[in-house]
This record gives sequence, structure tokens and C-alpha cells, in this order.
Amino acid sequence: MAEAAKPRPPVESGVVDVMPFLHPVMKKNYGKWKWHERPRPGVLHHVAESGDEIWTVRAGTQRQMDVHTIRKLCDIADEYAEGYVRFTIRSNIEFLVSDEAKVQPLIEKLEAEGFPVGGTGNSVSMIAHTQGWLHCDIPGTDASGVVKALMDELYEEFIREEMPNRVRITTSCCEINCGGQGDIAINVQHTKPPRINHDLVANVCERPAVVARCPVAAIRPALVNGKPSLEVDEKKCVCCGACFPPCPPMQINDPVHTKLAVWVGGKNSNARSKPTFHKLVAADLPNNPPRWPEVAEVVKKILRAYKEDARDWERMGEWIERIGWPRFFELTGLPFTKYHIDDWRGARASLNASAHLRF
Ligand code: SF4
Ligand code: SF4
Repeated sequence: MAEAAKPRPPVESGVVDVMPFLHPVMKKNYGKWKWHERPRPGVLHHVAESGDEIWTVRAGTQRQMDVHTIRKLCDIADEYAEGYVRFTIRSNIEFLVSDEAKVQPLIEKLEAEGFPVGGTGNSVSMIAHTQGWLHCDIPGTDASGVVKALMDELYEEFIREEMPNRVRITTSCCEINCGGQGDIAINVQHTKPPRINHDLVANVCERPAVVARCPVAAIRPALVNGKPSLEVDEKKCVCCGACFPPCPPMQINDPVHTKLAVWVGGKNSNARSKPTFHKLVAADLPNNPPRWPEVAEVVKKILRAYKEDARDWERMGEWIERIGWPRFFELTGLPFTKYHIDDWRGARASLNASAHLRF
């Protein structure tokens, strides 16, 4: 008699074990790779100590995919790539083959189906982007839309490796920014304090939690029309939007006043130089779907100047560090305004007012 199926134990945290999903050559040589190279943009070639070899072909996707596209990619994997794929954190898809003869037909098939092959080395790889409207409850714009529109314009830079060093772009669809640091970052920028729907606050929001959330202590409990609600000191408010997630009646997303801003020079890695925060270089750009042309224009200006002026292997932030900010604004043609300067006047008082920061 067949053994009764054992109930599957719940897994409440952590990621699944990747080993069962690895290509057999990768599994066999896990942690025992001797050297690797990039024979062409979009292709990696790894050689193991055992002598085994594997080729990885990287292609761009639009990230948020319909089921037909996913099936198409799976069919390509079965027919041209030994049935194994993986996704990078930048939503590129990688196909793995253990025979060099399979690389070229795979590339041709991917390109014929509209998936560009590239994104490796000193290219502009796919933009790392946040969840957007599909999975998060607070976005002020559609992250995937900005990414798709921009990558359509940067297509040539994805399939070639012609930048001084790798370019990592990120987007963030709220101002709290789960997008991380990037050579170029495109982030939502709210320009007006939240509008409060007082009828809903008492039913929906835990007021002490919202008051504690504000980084500059701009929110106070208040009685409005006899009901417990909140009020915002608009002189203090820095329009960060942090009060909106715990209290949706503090509406901050706005079709006109929610804008996009571009930041540059951030870096997560500590290769060659320490990790850095990106800095604001263009603000107040309209949140203009479906193509966001104003944002694309700024990003292309920055990339053009970086490509022409940076030395080989300089990351965006290292290039700016060398030439200085005045030269950066000169070369990119972006206007430099007083809003780019933070002299921290008043910061001691405003930050000390926070529930979280004391110094
Ligand atoms: S960036 Fe903000 S809105 Fe976008 S997914 Fe992250 S937390 Fe949500
Ligand atoms: S949390 Fe941010 S947006 Fe909300 S009141 Fe405070 S500073 Fe303004």
C-alpha cells in the first residue's frame, strides 16, 4: 500500500532552497568555479575547477509579465536552453547552457521574440524597480511604467557595453524609497503636505502610531468637529509621505503635486570605493505617463555626459567626485538652483523634534 502523503510543514520565513532548481552543472560545481569571462555583451562563460563549462545568456524583460510571456520564455528555455532559467534582481532573465553551440541559436531566438540580450558588464542594465501599483499600497507613480518607457529609450546601451563602467539605475514609486541607491535613481517627490480626511481618521488610523511615524514631529493629535483626528504643522512637514501608509486618510499622492526627481552617484557595492548615497540633481519633473519624456530627457543628458567624460572604470559617483559638482552641472546642462544646497541650517532643531533622532 502506498505510504500516506506526509503533510507539508509550513515555511513561515526565509527563502526556498535553490539547490533543486539549479542547472546540474551549477549544482555539481557549486562554489568551485575557477574563472569566467564575457565573450560578448549579454553572455557569461564560467569554467569550473573540474573543467566543466557553462554559458549564461542574459535577456531583458519588462518585469511585470503576463502569463503568455512567461510561457513563451519557458518554451524558449525548454527548446533552446536545457530547461533552466533564473531571474536577476534587476528582472533580467538568464538562460543556462552547457554547450557553446547552443548560445548563438538561443540569442537569435530571444531577439526574434523581442527580448534584448545584454545587461552585462559596463552596459546600462535593466532598472531595478520597486513594486508599484501591483503589490504595494502607497505608490505615487507606476514604477514598472517608468522603467519600460526608459529602457525603450536606452535599448542600445543595454545591448552594448560602451559605458565607462556599469550603470545601475533604480526607481522608487514613493518618497520613502525602497528602490535603494543607484548611479541614477528616479524617485517620487511629493511637493505638498498631506490632505487629511478627518471623517476617516478616527476609524482607520492609530493616532499615536502616526504621530510617532513623522520624522520631523509635524503631526499632532487634534479634535476636529468633535471627533478625534490629526493636524499637520505644514511649516515643519518635509512631504515625505511616511504618514500615509499607517494612515491612508492622510492623502499625499496627487496628480499634479506628486513629481519625480532624479538623483545620481549612489552605489551599494564597496568595490574600489566605499558605498555612497545618491544626491539630488533634478527635481519637480512631471509625473507624466505613459512615457515620462521629461524624466527620460534628464537621464539621457546625464548618461551622455558620463559616457563622454568619465575615465574607464569610473562609476558615476567617482566621476562626479573627480570633476566636481559645478562641472557636472555644466556638462549635463542641468540647471543648478538654490534647492540643491542643504546647509543644514535649522536641522538641529527640526531633527531634535523627532521621536526617533536625538543628537
Ligand atoms: S517604493 Fe514605496 S510605493 Fe514603491 S513599492 Fe516601495 S514602498 Fe511601495
Ligand atoms: S510624515 Fe512626512 S508627510 Fe507626513 S506630516 Fe510628517 S513630514 Fe509631513
